[in-house]
Amino acid sequence: MARNIGSRYTAHQILGRGSAGTVWLGEGPEGPVAVKLLREDLASDQELVGRFVRERTALLGLDHPRVVKVRDLVVDGNDLALVMDLVRGTDLRTRLDRERRLAPEAAVAIIRDVAEGLAAAHAAGVVHRDVKPENILLDMEGPLGPGGAHPALLTDFGVAKLIDTPGRTKATRIIGTPDYLAPEIVEGLPPRAAVDIYALATVLYELLAGFTPFGGGHPGAVLRRHVTETVVPLPGIPEELWQLLVQCLAKAPASRLRASELAARLADVLPLLKGIPPLDVDEPDAEPAASPEPYEDPAHATPTGAAGETARRRALVPLVPGAFADSHRDTHTSMRVPGPDELPGGPHGTARAPRPAGARRPGSARNKAGAVRKRRIVLGSAAAEAAGVLGVGGYLAVAGDGGTTPQDSRPSSAPAQP
Ligand code: ADP
Repeated sequence: MARNIGSRYTAHQILGRGSAGTVWLGEGPEGPVAVKLLREDLASDQELVGRFVRERTALLGLDHPRVVKVRDLVVDGNDLALVMDLVRGTDLRTRLDRERRLAPEAAVAIIRDVAEGLAAAHAAGVVHRDVKPENILLDMEGPLGPGGAHPALLTDFGVAKLIDTPGRTKATRIIGTPDYLAPEIVEGLPPRAAVDIYALATVLYELLAGFTPFGGGHPGAVLRRHVTETVVPLPGIPEELWQLLVQCLAKAPASRLRASELAARLADVLPLLKGIPPLDVDEPDAEPAASPEPYEDPAHATPTGAAGETARRRALVPLVPGAFADSHRDTHTSMRVPGPDELPGGPHGTARAPRPAGARRPGSARNKAGAVRKRRIVLGSAAAEAAGVLGVGGYLAVAGDGGTTPQDSRPSSAPAQP
């Protein structure tokens, strides 16, 4: 089922489907390529086509071994396509689904690679805005690094911004996960480089723990946790690594490390992690409480030390009507208002089988936590109804301004955020 993309490329076979389109294995004048063909409704949007052309230089100019190189942008009839280097391997989500948790050395090696790619992008003034395991590709043909990790490359650069047109998210129902969303985006600030650091630290936490620090349940509850909750410590994690995580998950963007600093610090930590097996982490909500506990503000929570206990308390975060001052501000590109029929969630926009929001991923450490999860979802739905679904959902569905702002000025190494 080969098809031509513009005059120079032929697409042969589907490699994967994402939220914005389909990725094909293709052939160009210089050999095999990956062609991301954007969805028809996106391709027919004149504003998007305009952005596509305007962003051309920035996208094509990004050249770093840890970034999947965009070779060409094709606007041809109804087709809108990004032609990329072909990465022979898999994405990080697939590996995570298979292994549930990675040994710290391998996890850090992968995240260090991505941090290096981000450093180059940020230096060029490009913010990714959608860092998540689905957008990290592992090159199985590359040399093995520390912990036996294959080289990691960040893909989908600029795509979040390209499809980020006010109004589109509602209309076209683009779905993403709020798990990696920085708190300042939830609060309506434009996405700057530090949002990528937060998202990448979230991915690192997930690689180590088997779950994201603030994910699970209704998207509104996830957003709220990003803003209000502190990250639950991981038992057995080396202190140096934990400090890095805490610093990069800081609520205040200025407190996070820059990408180049993060890459360097992770490289420093790597030798300390040799031979450490994957962490033995309890599921956050493995033991259901007999009855729902009231939400306790983490800032005033009784210190517990037991990650599981804190996390169980965390499982019951109410959605409070009017908690956000302005429910119509723009936030993130790959999100939309969840329809009432879809609550507690709809399918996520990845190449894998659709997964209800908040449902365990196959192989996830949360797989056994069905009972509490169900309760959380029920509570989330009920709370969302009470809050007015669209009022909170409006937070999810909006689009920021351009946002390819380079790293804003901030101290090169700020203290960790409590
Ligand atoms: P998403 O929208 O979920 O980020 P994408 O549309 O970017 O997903 O990609 C879908 C799938 O296509 C990925 O999960 C990956 O397996 C595959 N893919 C994407 N880019 C490339 C590439 N450059 N080389 C090889 N495979 C790729």
